[in-house]
Amino acid sequence: MSGSVLVVGGGIIGLSCAFEAARRGYKVTLLEPDRIGGQASGAAAGMLAPFSENTEQPDAFFQLCLSSLKQYPTWVNAVEQHSGISVEWINSGSLNVFQHEADLLPVQSRLRWQNKWGARAEFVEGSALKGIEPNLSQEAIAAIYYPEESHVYAPKLVEALEMACRNLGVTFFERAGDIQSIELIRGGGVSLLTSRLLEEVRAERVIICSGAWTGMYEKWLDISIPIHPIRGQICSYEGSLEEVRHMVFSSQAYWVGKKEGRIVCGASEDVAGFETSVTERGIKRLIKSSERWFPFFSGRQTVHQWAGLRPATTDGLPLLGAVGEEKSVIMAAGHYRNGILLSPITALLVGDLLDGRSQSASLLPFSPYRFTYACNN
Ligand SMILES: Cc1cc2nc3c(=O)[nH]c(=O)nc-3n(C[C@H](O)[C@H](O)[C@H](O)COP(=O)(O)OP(=O)(O)OC[C@H]3O[C@@H](n4cnc5c(N)ncnc54)[C@H](O)[C@@H]3O)c2cc1C
Repeated sequence: MSGSVLVVGGGIIGLSCAFEAARRGYKVTLLEPDRIGGQASGAAAGMLAPFSENTEQPDAFFQLCLSSLKQYPTWVNAVEQHSGISVEWINSGSLNVFQHEADLLPVQSRLRWQNKWGARAEFVEGSALKGIEPNLSQEAIAAIYYPEESHVYAPKLVEALEMACRNLGVTFFERAGDIQSIELIRGGGVSLLTSRLLEEVRAERVIICSGAWTGMYEKWLDISIPIHPIRGQICSYEGSLEEVRHMVFSSQAYWVGKKEGRIVCGASEDVAGFETSVTERGIKRLIKSSERWFPFFSGRQTVHQWAGLRPATTDGLPLLGAVGEEKSVIMAAGHYRNGILLSPITALLVGDLLDGRSQSASLLPFSPYRFTYACNN
């Protein structure tokens, strides 16, 4: 393989694409306007939960999430090998807990279709539920147990990917300033100008991985990119893996125990533009849910509170695919609530696009053109 690739955006998606492109032999540069991993990717809870996140049907998005989960063992192994850093991957399994009899009505059909897709999910209640998650409140009458779901420590995965990229020779432009223009050169190639770098950056191909900020590329790419930020507020308590053994999802919040002696509780969903501060109301809601579902949290203080901006498209699906006549631009953005889970499959699909391997059918639902065509019809 030969060719130069410029990745714009230093979150999990940009780092994963840069890692994959470098592994395939491309000459890769990664440009980040601000700090590597400083946005959504560093804020995430790190859950790899395709079944908990997709409860309705095995649509294209669910299948993308599931294939990404299947890539995780090999992917994590490669990242850890190339970086020498552990991403703290924990095969905890997860519990989706229910409080009311009425919540149980859709459970059997959900179990049926998800088990056909390899979930190995089980319905648990009463003493069996108490046995596997002893600190859960009596209010939890039953749960679906997903043994296949797991989690990583997202900031560590970011750190490991950055190190792996550096070890593979990726050039980094961090704190490069705002993107001022991107020009598609006739005959191939791209040229990009930022507010801080003195010279333009050129490459044969560019991969746009700019998370919640990707909408600004509309003006240069001449396509419709309806990506907007959805703020997620999240907090953590001191606590052990014994206190919350699985990832636990309720209808109001989720809890994930981390190796460093923290239990993370997330996450709100609100619209606040590009504001990344937490609000008293948002965090109070999480604390209230924590005390309700795990009474041992009562009186325990949160030790850290933070927020990040999920990159959401208007149909909830990411934009994955090539753009432009010369196909010199590849979009990989809009991963909304599942960017950590989706990082391996995104990188592999982008790698195949760089290599010119066709996967047009599987990528059709995620086409970067789908909103442009919808506007023109
Ligand atoms: C609270 C919270 C919890 C979450 N929990 C999970 C979870 O448990 N599991 C899961 O799978 N996902 C989770 N997510 C979602 C996940 O974090 C995102 O889907 C993922 O981080 C998106 O990665 P990204 O690289 O596209 O975006 P980002 O990490 O936001 O990175 C985008 C980068 O682009 C840079 N940038 C800004 N402007 C430009 C520009 N003009 N050009 C180029 N670059 C630019 C930014 O500075 C940033 O570094 C969570 C999100 C939040 C907020």
